[in-house]
Amino acid sequence: MAAITMKNIVKQYGDGFPAVNDVTLDVQDGEFMILVGPSGCGKSTLLRMIVGLEDITSGEMRIADRVVNRIAPRERNLSMVFQNYALYPHLTVYENIAFPLRLAKTPGDEVERRVKDTAELLELTEHLQRKPANLSGGQRQRVAMGRAIVRQADAFLFDEPLSNLDAKLRGQMRTEISRLQRRLGVTTVYVTHDQTEAMTLGDRVAVLRKGVLQQVGSPRELYEQPSNLFVAGFIGSPSMNFLPATVQDGHLETPLGRFEMDARKAAAVAGRSVVLVGIRPEDFEDASLISDEKRARGTIARAHVDVTEWLGNEQYAYVPYDAPEDLAAQLRDLSRELDSDQLRTQAVVALDAASLINAGEDAELWIDTGKAHIFDPASGENLT
Ligand code: ATP
Repeated sequence: MAAITMKNIVKQYGDGFPAVNDVTLDVQDGEFMILVGPSGCGKSTLLRMIVGLEDITSGEMRIADRVVNRIAPRERNLSMVFQNYALYPHLTVYENIAFPLRLAKTPGDEVERRVKDTAELLELTEHLQRKPANLSGGQRQRVAMGRAIVRQADAFLFDEPLSNLDAKLRGQMRTEISRLQRRLGVTTVYVTHDQTEAMTLGDRVAVLRKGVLQQVGSPRELYEQPSNLFVAGFIGSPSMNFLPATVQDGHLETPLGRFEMDARKAAAVAGRSVVLVGIRPEDFEDASLISDEKRARGTIARAHVDVTEWLGNEQYAYVPYDAPEDLAAQLRDLSRELDSDQLRTQAVVALDAASLINAGEDAELWIDTGKAHIFDPASGENLT
């Protein structure tokens, strides 16, 4: 096992902006680290630099305390699982899993023992004599994992290993990978663009955008204390609502009503006139279902519900609001961080399944304003 330490890592292809831009990140021994971000953010490039499939333009990469910048991939003792599995179609499951051991000239009886142990761990024992073409997608994925873990590698690297599977299988494999990693305790770096995978699998998550590391933290930290607009909008589903707001004495005036601020928040926005208020869909409730005590410590928004979506355990309501045009225009100018669809003029609200709010009606929504985040619209920084 090994820690992986990245120091000021840069990858420059051609003359554009760097694909990976000055990333400093420590993956601890035995840790499960997720690299997440939208397409093109540089996560695969970073992973490929760890493995050695890509040269490092500048910076220092260490694995188990050894600088590996100039060390060939096969000398790094890492195992990688790719998106497309890369199984050998003409070999059986047994031979696919045994492949790295044969390459390393492992003695035959040890090959047999390790392949059998691995197959058992991954519930592949009864399929050992089959060829990949005769396996389901999930079984193929498990063979690819088997091939990665059969060797005693210092670390496992996964590049979007579940993206070719359907949603149900993806959920199952997620649990299996999580269980396996905990059991083996091997340092793991896992690349995904799927924020659900990021939140459920890792000990820590590193969020990348345009080659730049935005934040590293536990899933809970990213969810509860996103450091900027990008992380706030990326983590959580449906994503956080961002409301334009003017700063008043002791409160914020938003299109969904007044958000009181405690002294700490008031100090954080002192001297500003316009901010973005972030409030998660789950921080709204149907006001008819809550206690008086709760009512007293939030805001009640009287809103028109445009559309509802019922999901069984909860429901989403879409609530259009009027943002003063001058404020919205000012924010569009200020806001370099927001995609246009995030500066929407509707809030997405997650309500209890018991709520009887209907589409096309006016409703009273309670907002847990204490949970609101306040962002600088220009830099995107979370001020709270
Ligand atoms: P995806 O999820 O789509 O795979 P990613 O976050 O993994 O995206 P990378 O594949 O690391 O992103 O790519 C980061 C940036 O580097 C992109 O702008 C991409 O176009 C560019 N890039 C990647 N590989 C090369 C290459 N071999 N030559 C030139 N540019 C490249």
